[in-house]
Amino acid sequence: MTNKTVSLVRKWLGLNTHSTRDIIFQARGDGGPGVPNIEWVYTATRTNHLLKMLNCDDVTVREMARESLLLHMQRRKIPPAKENERQFLGFKIKDNGKLDIRTAGFGVRSDWMDLNDLCHRSGINLKWAGPDGTPVALNSVVMDPLINVCATFEQEDGQHELSIKTARATMLRMKVEESAQHWTSLSLQGKLALLPFANHSVSHSILSNTTIGEDVLIFCIKARLQVLPKKYNLAICYPSQHNPHCILHPTPDNKETMAHILNGCSFYKGLYIARHDRLVDLVSQELRQVQDRTTHMYKHSTVKLNWFDHNCTDNNILYNIPNTPDIVFINQARKSVTIFEIGCAFDLYMDTCFTSKFMKYQPLVECITALGYNCQLIIVVFGSLGHVHKLVLRGLQMGGLQKADAKRVLKFCSVSATIGSLHIWKRRCVVYP
Ligand SMILES: [Zn+2]
Repeated sequence: MTNKTVSLVRKWLGLNTHSTRDIIFQARGDGGPGVPNIEWVYTATRTNHLLKMLNCDDVTVREMARESLLLHMQRRKIPPAKENERQFLGFKIKDNGKLDIRTAGFGVRSDWMDLNDLCHRSGINLKWAGPDGTPVALNSVVMDPLINVCATFEQEDGQHELSIKTARATMLRMKVEESAQHWTSLSLQGKLALLPFANHSVSHSILSNTTIGEDVLIFCIKARLQVLPKKYNLAICYPSQHNPHCILHPTPDNKETMAHILNGCSFYKGLYIARHDRLVDLVSQELRQVQDRTTHMYKHSTVKLNWFDHNCTDNNILYNIPNTPDIVFINQARKSVTIFEIGCAFDLYMDTCFTSKFMKYQPLVECITALGYNCQLIIVVFGSLGHVHKLVLRGLQMGGLQKADAKRVLKFCSVSATIGSLHIWKRRCVVYP
């Protein structure tokens, strides 16, 4: 069943059989397509249902379930487990996890045999537990309301108790976490998985927005998994036939990685600027609407001394420092300046980009403060594959946007950045024969 789902999803997304299956079952909020895993859901739901029957508050249901459990076990002549033996609710199990059946079942199915298999597969141990942890005699479990089934599971950090009330959700979460852990540990495909410095509530709208074309969606998923056929990947798989270097550069210093194509190759500079300027336009347009009319906005221009009301005599004060932030808002009456700097880095390097931009404009902030203005600097960093840095939402709110509006803008920008990158990839595909 899982294999069938995986192969269908791979077919839709055009992924080959070497691509990881971990991404497929990740929720959209984590950057996966959010396909439900039928096997996980089935196992969790059925286990949870059977456990709930055994611990049910309703006397009739509980006693009937427990009676049938004992009956099924006795009919198959399964011996009770001794103290140190592996056990399933007091009955002996063999080393392979199967119940120690001493007689043929005559083809009669049993829910309780299934429960043992399900628990064995998900690593759950079941025991009867009395009110104070005393050992329980099997013949008393049917009538005694104080005895309950207690479920535990092993993890790296020791044994945990599984609450029967929330067993289904817990089991599903464990499966998802397990696969996410495997995914993030992959050296190539897991590089952009669950980035710790991205805001995941706005970074993955491309996966759920149905108005976005399928080509963009597929490009985004493939590029984030780094499975597009760029030279660097081909050279890893076929070192004798492919050369990992970017052929647009005469010196073989630049390996043609996704980061190089989307952010580092001087050949596509015009496209990078277009992608960046579009982001600047989108952000500035929204911010302009929430500023009052006396505030001036400057976009794409060098900061000039005559924008400010001051009595500074040094005309060169602004010329020897980085002085071209993307958007500047000046309010003369309130003597306040807000600088927005927008960056589009490769997703893996967003954090570095954020810090370097922050440091770069510190001298400018100091100069403007010295002119007698209250100056704040807000850095907005997008990843070229649609991730958004986690401090950006806060920044736009500081810039005057409501949280809901800021989220909407960021989702839009995230998609815009990805589309910009798709254009670059298309150009790159034209370049190569
Ligand atoms: Zn290049």
